[in-house]
Amino acid sequence: MTDTAAVTALLDSRAEIVRAQDELASRLPAPMAIVARIAYNYRWSWTPGGNELFAAVDELRWERSNRNPVRLLLEATSVSLERAAADERLMRQAAAILAVIEADNARPAMPGRASARQPVAFLCAEFAVHTSLPIYAGGLGVLAGDILKEASDLAVPMVGVGLLYRQGYFLQRMDRTGYQHEYWIPLDPERVPAVLVRNNDGTPLTVTVPLRGRELMVQVWRVQVGRVPLFLLDADLRENSRTDRWITARLYESDRSIRLAQYALLGIGSMRVLDAMGMTPSVVHLNEGHAALAPLELARMDMAGGGDRDTALAAARERTIFTTHTPVGAGNEGYDIAEVADVMGDLPAEVGMDFDSFLQLGRTRPEDPHEPFVMTPLGIRMSRAANGVSRRHGEVARQMWQPLFPDRPVDTVPIGHVTNGVHVPTWMAPATRELLDRHLGDEWITRASDPQTWAAVASIPDAEVWELRSQLRAGFVEYVRDRSVATRLARSEPREMVAAAERGFSPDSLTIGFARRLATYKRLYMLTLEPERMANLLTDGARSMQLILAGKAHPDDEEGKRSAQGLFTFKQLHNAPEHVAFLDNYDLTIASHLVAGCDLWVNLPRAPLEASGTSGMKSVLNGGLNLSVLDGWWAEAFDGTNGWGIPGDSVYDPSVQDRRDAAAFYDLLEHEVAPLFYDRGEDGIPHGWVQRVKRSLMTNGPLFSATRMVEDYIDDAYLLRSLSQAGAR
Ligand SMILES: *Cc1c(COP(=O)(O)O)cnc(C)c1O
Repeated sequence: MTDTAAVTALLDSRAEIVRAQDELASRLPAPMAIVARIAYNYRWSWTPGGNELFAAVDELRWERSNRNPVRLLLEATSVSLERAAADERLMRQAAAILAVIEADNARPAMPGRASARQPVAFLCAEFAVHTSLPIYAGGLGVLAGDILKEASDLAVPMVGVGLLYRQGYFLQRMDRTGYQHEYWIPLDPERVPAVLVRNNDGTPLTVTVPLRGRELMVQVWRVQVGRVPLFLLDADLRENSRTDRWITARLYESDRSIRLAQYALLGIGSMRVLDAMGMTPSVVHLNEGHAALAPLELARMDMAGGGDRDTALAAARERTIFTTHTPVGAGNEGYDIAEVADVMGDLPAEVGMDFDSFLQLGRTRPEDPHEPFVMTPLGIRMSRAANGVSRRHGEVARQMWQPLFPDRPVDTVPIGHVTNGVHVPTWMAPATRELLDRHLGDEWITRASDPQTWAAVASIPDAEVWELRSQLRAGFVEYVRDRSVATRLARSEPREMVAAAERGFSPDSLTIGFARRLATYKRLYMLTLEPERMANLLTDGARSMQLILAGKAHPDDEEGKRSAQGLFTFKQLHNAPEHVAFLDNYDLTIASHLVAGCDLWVNLPRAPLEASGTSGMKSVLNGGLNLSVLDGWWAEAFDGTNGWGIPGDSVYDPSVQDRRDAAAFYDLLEHEVAPLFYDRGEDGIPHGWVQRVKRSLMTNGPLFSATRMVEDYIDDAYLLRSLSQAGAR
């Protein structure tokens, strides 16, 4: 399909964005045309002043639209639009933001063997680019979004490919007992910053994928993430049967057969779509196992061009790298023969493979017919290099997947690690950014992976750091009050609980955050394993604390749902409604409030099941301190001076481990954390605490930035810059 007509489709999809911008601009007062152009590239979301620009048009509608710039501009009243257009200062700010976006686009690409026509193709089941595009569930999606943004900042020729879920992930409502209810709101792709990719003749570009014995047809949406396009496959077409149209309805759908179909669509459809647009990926990055069929499709295309099978498979492996993200069972789910045959039965023959050989690729012990089919072994086998997402997770993954390499001892299993990082401009609150902009030098953010950049934190006056923390905490407490009053009323909680939210929470009190997916291994229940002790700590007069929680349990995870109920019971029984709040419907917006406002970020996973964890890194960027089990990223971050650690060795009996870790947690809170926070100098500043905050920024800032992470991928996995060596071989 790589003929000239197809190549124009690629160019046209960029033109489609311009067309959409023009169309939107034509409905607005003339000066607002600049704002319409900004709206179609998420680069605004990590440009200082971008969020404020849209908020200034109509703040209420901005929040109600989930900060969706296209919807805001389509739905704002003409009064608001005219007022914004007449505001010369605002229009000058808009012009400055557009200039940043255009200058960013005009930079030359990173030199090396990837290019716009031969990009790095980054495949993932979920992408958390922005709160207005709800096609993510949690950490995996946030990481994928941060990688696209950082690739844009580093001018890496990358494209993302995922699925456009018409209903996204569920929204959460907790009832008064703390039990989670789920609901879904359909996404209207015409009202988000996405454009349909079209052929020359204006018809939508489509490809087909053989699935469930039929040809599934998909179209493609393009979302612009800075310089990086994100292509989203969409099966909601009349040409498909009603059931097949549901394949791209929901992320992490409960129906196993639909889940398998999603994986096949992502792996195979992504390669077909890129091919149809005239792109030949130089590297295919499988971000988790969902997309692991992609290299088989690469091989098929090669064979269609006349290559023999084994050479084609070897060449596909050479282009593929694989990242595993969790040792937990739900992330490495097994499917039996009948399930795989039903959905993917036609695929192996396309690469000249019998079905049995195909199944063997998805087993740790290929010859064991009782072993289920898992996408992770397929990904590891079909890639040139594989990695875990922290140093410790690398070790765990080598152990876990050693049976794939029966003649290798564990240490030499070819799975390395690239520790996760977070996109600094996205996760640093505007006030923090302003402080560091004043002290770290011009353009410091482009040098975020250099420890030297962060060294200047040492000489920021303690008073300025403390002022920042106090300001962020006070703003957050207002937000918590707003949300808690509203959700407690909506849940019909007793009047006293509502009143407690109205007067409770203090802008001066030590504020503890715990927010993440409510998966069992994250052990939310540990916070209240000793309820009396926790209640005493929270309500201790001069040294009180407040605990702000958020998180979703997968709809099928009863145990996860019950863990949240435990906290609601605690809050009511232990007279702590002024100190404990659960914020419904954890998403990127809530996350950004939490990681900015909390003084202490707590993570209590059952070691060694936390592959990395990233929310603690976001807290670091705003001067929060981590108290965490030494697992995942924290096992390589903690140095004794930059936060607090709980031993991360694992004990055979989980309940013994729980009790031991909980005791360590409460001891640290009582004897170290609270005393340090409340030990004030004559100037009212807790200098010991501020010292630790500075150590945390200086040591963790450079290491856990997405800049360091993407640089590692470029050098160790993509091998983009080693063209000359590769060519010489
Ligand atoms: C960062 C983030 C996560 C991941 O947090 P972990 O610490 O890795 O569990 C999940 N959900 C949202 C909304 C986030 O922003």
